[in-house]
Amino acid sequence: SKRGGKMRCSWFREEFDRNLEALRDMDDELRSALLNEEFRVLYQPLVDAKSRRVVSVEALLRWVRPDGKLIGPDVFIPIAEESGLINSIGLWVLRVACGDALAWGNIKLSVNISAAQLRNPEFPIQLGNIIEETGFPAERLELEITETCLVLDPVVAERSLDIIRGFGVSVALDDFGTGYASIGFLRQFRFQKLKLDRSLVVDSAGDESSRAMMLSSISMARALKMDVTAEGVETQAQADLVRSAGCDQIQGWLYFRPMPPEEIEQHLLLPASP
Ligand code: C2E
Ligand code: CA
Ligand code: CA
Ligand code: CA
Repeated sequence: SKRGGKMRCSWFREEFDRNLEALRDMDDELRSALLNEEFRVLYQPLVDAKSRRVVSVEALLRWVRPDGKLIGPDVFIPIAEESGLINSIGLWVLRVACGDALAWGNIKLSVNISAAQLRNPEFPIQLGNIIEETGFPAERLELEITETCLVLDPVVAERSLDIIRGFGVSVALDDFGTGYASIGFLRQFRFQKLKLDRSLVVDSAGDESSRAMMLSSISMARALKMDVTAEGVETQAQADLVRSAGCDQIQGWLYFRPMPPEEIEQHLLLPASP
């Protein structure tokens, strides 16, 4: 009936208003989190597959709310992307991470960059400014991007990546094995590194076709002279598997969890144990 329709409509309207309001609240909170310095950057060391020495760290963002609650990036990054706030949060992460990592010898620093950042044509200039201000050697910096960045706006992305590489910064394709990235795609964007997604690593232990996919990804990366990192390695069996498959670096809880900057230095001298 007409009345029923109207009722449903107003119900949707209320639901819509509520969702929008929740989104705005979170957005306001994120904005003040940035102003009030509630974000923290943790660092997870990556080890060389052969020597087990720490060769780089990945910067991973956390939000510590005033009530002490820790919120992971999977929760708030999508909201920051939606509102555009990711641009300022992302620059903040880059500045802090370059400052922290300056003291850590010759290891590399990887920073995650979201699609919305890369689509911003100002991004390369802003990155260049941060490198200049912090004095962080561009050759030690690596940006991790996912293929959504490139599919959404390939023209801007390619232009920006060219400028960024011109600084001496390298670019890694993150979460490989979860999307559709093809060999042509890898060639077009000339990544220096491929990061095999944790799901591929986990599945490879039990499943023949996942293992085949991992092996062919690695040989494809080899052919294109790219380095390969295995992500999310939690067990010795997984480490043995990705090592024998030919991965160059290993990242995962088996070796290191993300940690605050003060704890990094003590891990740089000796090889990791397992
Ligand atoms: P990612 O880039 O794929 O990062 C790897 C994620 O796997 C991290 O989760 C890391 O803590 C987790 N991890 C590492 N080793 C293991 C392991 O052995 N087992 C398991 N189960 N997990 C492991 P985290 O820190 O929660 O970050 C989640 C995602 O949020 C990241 O995925 C990245 O996409 C995004 N992210 C984190 N920091 C930033 C940032 O500063 N900027 C942007 N744009 N995105 C970020
Ligand atoms: Ca990453
Ligand atoms: Ca990843
Ligand atoms: Ca991921």
